[in-house]
Amino acid sequence: RTRATPSSSSSSDVEAAKRVVSDLRDACATPATTLDAVAAAMVGEMDAGLAAEGGSSKVKMIVTFVDALPNGGEEGSFYALDLGGTNFRVLRVRLAGGGGVAERVAREVPIPHRLMSGDDATSENLFDFIASALAEFVADEEGRDGDGGDGERMRELGFTFSFPVRQTSIASGKLIRWTKAFAVDDAVGEDVVAALQAAMSKHGLHNMRVSALINDTVGTLATGSYYDDDTVAAVILGTGTNAAYIESTNAIAKLSSPPAELGNSSNTMVINTEWGGFDSPFLPTTEYDQALDAESLNPGEQTYEKLISGLYLGDIVRRVLLKISTKSSLLGGGDTDLLTTRFVLTTPDVSSMHHDETPDLAIVADKLAEKLNIRGTSLETRRMVVEICDIVATRSARLAAAGIVGILRKIGRGGAGDERRSVVAVDGGLFEHYAKFRQCMESTLEEMLGEEAAARMFIKLANDGSGLGAALVAAAYSQS
Ligand code: BGC
Ligand code: MG
Repeated sequence: RTRATPSSSSSSDVEAAKRVVSDLRDACATPATTLDAVAAAMVGEMDAGLAAEGGSSKVKMIVTFVDALPNGGEEGSFYALDLGGTNFRVLRVRLAGGGGVAERVAREVPIPHRLMSGDDATSENLFDFIASALAEFVADEEGRDGDGGDGERMRELGFTFSFPVRQTSIASGKLIRWTKAFAVDDAVGEDVVAALQAAMSKHGLHNMRVSALINDTVGTLATGSYYDDDTVAAVILGTGTNAAYIESTNAIAKLSSPPAELGNSSNTMVINTEWGGFDSPFLPTTEYDQALDAESLNPGEQTYEKLISGLYLGDIVRRVLLKISTKSSLLGGGDTDLLTTRFVLTTPDVSSMHHDETPDLAIVADKLAEKLNIRGTSLETRRMVVEICDIVATRSARLAAAGIVGILRKIGRGGAGDERRSVVAVDGGLFEHYAKFRQCMESTLEEMLGEEAAARMFIKLANDGSGLGAALVAAAYSQS
């Protein structure tokens, strides 16, 4: 495909571009009936996922072995690892008891791309990298504290690993498959805690054990309920998307005999839904989504996630702009092929353009120039770009709201006459930093639940739920 050469735009150019945008608007429409059908289909898939292990449901409904959430009484120092999105982090958290986090030290370590996918991306290389960053952090922390001499004490670590894992206990589980930008093939089917422990030993971390392996949604749920007892579910809206919630054990058919590890006093179990895998004919999809999926690391998987999460929104917008550039000269003028390069336009770029309030849309002009080498656009064209961002982000936010409504329906919350407060803890950059996304998601929730029920629903940002949550769950399941 070639791009039309720059010229002053003719009216047929403008019309061709407008047609692309109006087709997009139609294909991405999410009227109330669609959202309701999506929420109902989500409930159906959740039911199917709870029925049978390894069943056909695309929503895996993973039993997390977390049956006791932290209650605020936890005390002591805990380490945590957070691997899942774009960055990897190591943390140390000191819990003071009485619901307080006395100290939290975190270090962010960018994961080299070659360890995420491609020939160098082996399980050994990846876990080696992680363990070496952890060893360095521990040495620095304990040196700083002057407690490096305490070689006897067993350190406990919570490991947040934000991919679908078939858990076999609170501290073990096999990777079902990678998602997002990871594709480390030989790790699939492997016990990720065993792989981590082996790498930790290699790096001299003999006095540290993994007390809990959790998903980021579970960490966010733990963080949410640490601060607010009415927390019933947690959602991640970041690089990827997913949700976890508290289920009663008797609703989990596939948990025929509760595993021995469970103390099982609570009669509840946290379920990691893995809703990113959800798919339904009711989902509004476009030619751009199909192309994005076909060129992704995981074609045919994570359909719902690809319509919603931060890894993908920028690339959907880029694909629409590319289409316009083949149909008109409005986005001509560049001499590079940046528009055909995957992921050059990111979701933060989309957010900046969408929130541009300068009279001449100068931020849009800058982003187009800087990221796509498109210069000299008219104000009308820039307005069109903002509209594309709006269409794509709105579809995402409304579909995410429908998923949340699905979960609430599943646990009988938020219906008419339900007087209880329900809190949903949310973490992830898409929710935290993209104001229009967040506003749209919240207003869609109100639209779906009704004003009265929505007034008892609280969507709360659980900042760093995945990192802090790992330490909290490690504390709740501490073996010392
Ligand atoms: C993963 C989930 C994770 C979510 C958010 C998805 O791609 O499958 O396990 O919770 O991303 O990080
Ligand atoms: Mg995260």
